[in-house]
Amino acid sequence: MMEEVIRVRNLFKKYGNITAVDGISFDVRKGEIFAMLGPNGAGKTTTVEILECVRKPTSGEISVLGEDIGSKEGANRIKRKIGVLPQDFNALGRLTVRENLEFFAGIYDKHLSISELLDMLGLQEKEKERFDKLSGGLQQRVGLAAAFINDPDLVFLDEPTTGLDPEIRRATWHFIREMKARGKTIFLTTHYMEEAEQLSDRIAIIVKGKIAALDTPSNLISSYGGSKSLVFKNAGEAAFGTLRRFFETARMDGNDVILPIENPRDIQIALNALFEMGLNFEMEVKSPNIEYVFLKLTGYRIKETGEVE
Ligand code: ATP
Repeated sequence: MMEEVIRVRNLFKKYGNITAVDGISFDVRKGEIFAMLGPNGAGKTTTVEILECVRKPTSGEISVLGEDIGSKEGANRIKRKIGVLPQDFNALGRLTVRENLEFFAGIYDKHLSISELLDMLGLQEKEKERFDKLSGGLQQRVGLAAAFINDPDLVFLDEPTTGLDPEIRRATWHFIREMKARGKTIFLTTHYMEEAEQLSDRIAIIVKGKIAALDTPSNLISSYGGSKSLVFKNAGEAAFGTLRRFFETARMDGNDVILPIENPRDIQIALNALFEMGLNFEMEVKSPNIEYVFLKLTGYRIKETGEVE
């Protein structure tokens, strides 16, 4: 049996009439990267903040690192043992990067080497710069360093790459993987499909306060992802109209036309129909990914901003 670091049973959180978390149960295992994936307002931050002992649940049984979050002493012990990157991380603006990390390190009995953290996050050259003079991406990296400063076994990262450009996002993923390799358990919330798919051992898809599915990315894809698809790049409305005569499942994505391959013969039928029209297009085969799973389970997509459409 794998050790549970977090155990949640029937967690509810209500704000007046709003049910933000609607009876969820799950476990997080030692050493895994566990992601909660869902659109804005799904209840992710509420759940994490309850696990971090900064909000109280309306009801439910929850233990973190073997401590009951309902007891005051338990909650205090949890707070000292975990690491947190909140969604709205802030530091002392007038202090330098290193001074900030020294300040955070001083709060705890033990801490990781500041130089090593700066090095892992590519912040060595910025260590003497004032926090308030840094770009958003660099500030966020200081936040990551701060989340790991007390050498915690369990770290909560709430939307760690929101608003970052793709290169910095990838560097952040690399850092998170390195921390996992050191045996840390990481609880991640995100609305980026790719982030959840690339990083996580298991993903809980959360929609309107409920867990719609929870499994490894590959199991989610094989259970809910459906078939491979043909993508006709830039084929446009005319191609869509033609394919739609044969296939109800054809759909448009921007100017691309997407056709799920339910039967190998579909490929031949589709190509014949398009060639007969004399259309020009490029084609590729796309395997299902977490985005397909999400679409299947919820009927909608998450935009870059985290809103749904
Ligand atoms: P986001 O990605 O925007 O952070 P989320 O999935 O983390 O979204 P929550 O922030 O947990 O979602 O919000 C869940 C629901 O609870 C939303 O409808 C939100 O408006 C509501 N909510 C959150 N905090 C409060 C609060 N303090 N008072 C009232 N309602 C709240």
